[in-house]
Amino acid sequence: MSNLTDLNEKIAKCDACRLCKQRKRAVPGEGREDAEIMFIGEAPGWHEDQQGRPFVGPAGQFLDELLQSINLKRSEVYIANVVKCRPPSHRDPLPDEIGACRKWLDRQMELIKPKMIVTLGRYSMARFFPGATISKVHGTSRTSEGVTYFAMYHPAAALHQGSLRGVIMEDMLKIPPFLTQAEAVPEEPTPQKSKKAEKVPKVEKAEKPGKGEKIEKVEKGASAEKAEQTEPKQLSMF
Ligand code: SF4
Repeated sequence: MSNLTDLNEKIAKCDACRLCKQRKRAVPGEGREDAEIMFIGEAPGWHEDQQGRPFVGPAGQFLDELLQSINLKRSEVYIANVVKCRPPSHRDPLPDEIGACRKWLDRQMELIKPKMIVTLGRYSMARFFPGATISKVHGTSRTSEGVTYFAMYHPAAALHQGSLRGVIMEDMLKIPPFLTQAEAVPEEPTPQKSKKAEKVPKVEKAEKPGKGEKIEKVEKGASAEKAEQTEPKQLSMF
């Protein structure tokens, strides 16, 4: 059994927060165990809870399209969420739930050691681009300790606000050059890979901004917005 499989079994039995009470299945994540690129969303929705797999609902179908647009398959990447169990009634995960679940995402990153992490939506953005706002930081990257972080809207945002579909697709097309750069960076020697996410971001402008989109530097200390969600929600949540 691989370390990641072992970890997934522990996540499936986790009762560290209230979300364990109503879940049908925990959704640890799936994909290549040595993936160069990892996509991190918010939390499982209804479809994910039923199947125990991430991004299998309508937002997941759009994510599949996005991956295809840059010639990537699910089997070549790793897909996970900040929170591994479904919050009830389509609500956002609460801070204590995110805190309780953080250890699992930390361990996943330690085991997978991705060269690039793509944040999908506001909750994972808040983790890796502290103080940023999604409308300003999407389509931009930062690097820290050999890992490239790239921010995107959650795919579910396009299901509620059609104008964001093109923005998300254009942001996705910016990933390959960043990934090529990230893959060229030598593996860092430190064993504590999870610490890399704690540094203050150095945001780099993407090479080519999306049509009609203005890419701005992230202001350290600005208020983070509320997070997006995997399941359909109000537009303001994205
Ligand atoms: S959401 Fe995370 S911390 Fe909470 S029960 Fe599920 S796996 Fe455990």
